[in-house]
Amino acid sequence: MADTPRNYYDLLGVDRNATPEEIKRAYRRLARELHPDVNPDPAAQDKFKAVTTAYEVLSDPEKRRIVDLGGDPLSQGAGTAGNPFAGFGGFGDVFEAFFGGGGGAGRGRRSRVRPGADALLQMSLTLDEAAFGVRKEIAVDTAIVCETCHGDGCAPGTSPRTCQTCGGSGEIQSVQRSFLGQVMTTRTCSACGGTGEQIPVPCPTCGSDGRVRARRTITVDVPAGIEDGMRIRLSGQGEVGPGGGPAGDLYVEISERPHDTFAREGADLHCTVVVPFTAAALGTDLSLETLDGEEKLEIKAGTQGGSVLTLRGKGVPRLRSSSRGDLHVHVEVRTPTRLDDAQERLLREFAALRNEDVSVSAKNGGLFGKVRDAFGGR
Ligand SMILES: [Zn+2]
Ligand SMILES: [Zn+2]
Repeated sequence: MADTPRNYYDLLGVDRNATPEEIKRAYRRLARELHPDVNPDPAAQDKFKAVTTAYEVLSDPEKRRIVDLGGDPLSQGAGTAGNPFAGFGGFGDVFEAFFGGGGGAGRGRRSRVRPGADALLQMSLTLDEAAFGVRKEIAVDTAIVCETCHGDGCAPGTSPRTCQTCGGSGEIQSVQRSFLGQVMTTRTCSACGGTGEQIPVPCPTCGSDGRVRARRTITVDVPAGIEDGMRIRLSGQGEVGPGGGPAGDLYVEISERPHDTFAREGADLHCTVVVPFTAAALGTDLSLETLDGEEKLEIKAGTQGGSVLTLRGKGVPRLRSSSRGDLHVHVEVRTPTRLDDAQERLLREFAALRNEDVSVSAKNGGLFGKVRDAFGGR
């Protein structure tokens, strides 16, 4: 296995020129979903070890340089091959690097304080709200720090004590005989879950978890130009972690309600106006209710059905930009039906005046030619 250099970049899902910050962010995101405390699936634990290794390598400029030169910094040197953790102190250290574990925690000991999970909420917006932005209050149900114990999980007046099973190291070592000789194995202390601490008197409010579920109201500033399916990230507004650990992020996913008149396509809007064929022929002025209020729309004499009038800058503002999309008005020309006698007579006279043969037959190649053209059949 050590002979095959793994692609550490792929493991973290970042590309080769990712900045240290991007690498850190990618690892942090993966760790939140794969950490053994959050995800008991054995496959996830293997993956967690792999991404932790990848992070260790890529966050170390010297090791990363070796990777970029086509090597594998973990495959060199006898004794380290096959053990991705040989060069450093296990993933507890990585967590402490991120989340500031308990002071004085030894190698192998894991902090009882864990990062919280991200949370996702839906927010429904009207087209106007999405277009111009809005400030909205939403109710959020997440875990927050327990106020009784301030996160440490102990009943008031008590404090965590050193685990008596492992003596505070968080791990139990034992020596086993094998055909290779004596092998020292280390496993996580089950009495304290590897934290090295036990809570003698659990907090009556949270039962030692350090957090409680609560509903709170937060204000979300929706930026102008947001679109259906986009997510707004509210840093640190997600779930508080076990032991009062740092909160994850809250994502607010936007769903835009359909508008009666306008269909949205990115920053552009589309709508349809229906005009009688007489108005299309003679021309007329319409008044159209746009996002910016009444707008006069000129239907020029001789407008064809299917033509599109574009009102520049009357669409939706572009996200984080001062420009706006356009409003496209599709003109539909309505042919009259149920003509009464007088109307039909006038139309026939009109047709005669224009030399338009109203008894067109299939032999009329000229007209078929025009129909074909209209469908782009040239
Ligand atoms: Zn508590
Ligand atoms: Zn213990």
